[in-house]
Amino acid sequence: MQTADSKTIETIEAQNKAPRGIRDILPEESWKWAYVLSVTAQTMADFGYSEVYLPIFEHTELFSRGVGDATDIVEKEMYTFVDRGGRSVTLRPEATAGMVRAALEHGLCEQNMSSKLWCWGPMFRYERPQKGRYRQFYQFDAECLGLAGPVADVEIIALSAEIFRRLGLRNLEVVANSVGCPKCRPQYRKVLVDYFTSKKSSLCETCLGRLDRNPLRVLDCKVPECSAVADSAPAIYEHLCDECAAHFEEVKAGLARLNFPYKLDKRLVRGLDYYTKTAYEILSGELGAQNAVCGGGRYDNLAESIGGPHLPGVGFAAGFDRVVLVMEQQGNSFGERPRTEVYVAAQDEAARGAVQILTHKLRREGISAEQDAGDALRGARSFKAQMKSANKIGAAWTCIVGADELAKGSVTVKNMTTGEQNLVAEEEVANYIRRHEARLI
Ligand SMILES: [Zn+2]
Ligand SMILES: [Zn+2]
Repeated sequence: MQTADSKTIETIEAQNKAPRGIRDILPEESWKWAYVLSVTAQTMADFGYSEVYLPIFEHTELFSRGVGDATDIVEKEMYTFVDRGGRSVTLRPEATAGMVRAALEHGLCEQNMSSKLWCWGPMFRYERPQKGRYRQFYQFDAECLGLAGPVADVEIIALSAEIFRRLGLRNLEVVANSVGCPKCRPQYRKVLVDYFTSKKSSLCETCLGRLDRNPLRVLDCKVPECSAVADSAPAIYEHLCDECAAHFEEVKAGLARLNFPYKLDKRLVRGLDYYTKTAYEILSGELGAQNAVCGGGRYDNLAESIGGPHLPGVGFAAGFDRVVLVMEQQGNSFGERPRTEVYVAAQDEAARGAVQILTHKLRREGISAEQDAGDALRGARSFKAQMKSANKIGAAWTCIVGADELAKGSVTVKNMTTGEQNLVAEEEVANYIRRHEARLI
């Protein structure tokens, strides 16, 4: 054990900061998150999705099998540790594997039942931190389990798009691809490896390594030379088996039926091995500056790869941090920021007890109220300073209690917008405020 003395100043300073890539969501931002979450929850309910609360860590094996050993996530980005019982556990880097694990464990999809589930919460990936990307980030996530048909794919795409429509995101565009299935992907893989091998001299070091293990990933490499090569690569949707081709046609027809503009993107392949058939992203923004706000698709082989029975599934995940950032960039509304409605002020020391009682009464009535919590010994604020506080927090009303008011069992209620004030019986204050607020609407 290190003693406090032997710690360097940096270590002590570091203790007072969140770890690199981790941040706090402070009041300035958290109310926006609450808005996004409430819109999301309502939309999920409208589409028949039930919320579940999942653990934030699972057995490491769930992710190495369910996400795939050859993915960047499992290779480089997981927070894995051995617990005190000697088990290897991992902070979830994504939600789908845990959701499928939970559905299997509790038999939610037995006897041909399907399950529509959603969750939200923190995910963890050891990535290089940059603007809008954190090592603890938050996602909302919906999974439709037990349905193999293309209608479920269209419904998942429609659900995610509807959340973003309700949040006011502009110029939404669906970008879709099919990544095939274990029947057709190996053939496409061969075609792709042949193509990339013929362009080997133009590929980056990472992609050369990917050629054997995960050649589809070369398609989404951001290195310009690789990107140019990938642009002319053969498209997987031209190499699908009959079943995958028919499924993809029906997804496209469904999107057209619901008037979702979409475009095909052969380079949309996702880094996760369990994806089958439909893969999609939703972009939002002005032309030329589009942001992906969610990604998703079908993963019919995930349940089996984690040791369960065959269980088809389709879902999406969207990043809270990213959605809030895009909404801010687009100047979207987050509804009204909750504020304190009433400030209760004491004109003198003798009124402090009455102020405490009235503040509590208003709060019990569901009217948000604030008071000066200081007292004579510990920095009580003067009446003038209390009125300043009332202004600072943007209270709509101030209730003033002084000697006059105490004598009459009343309170002076001041409308902070108009400056108008009235003497109101103490037991009538809540009703008075409610009546007058109501009149404004
Ligand atoms: Zn196929
Ligand atoms: Zn590359």
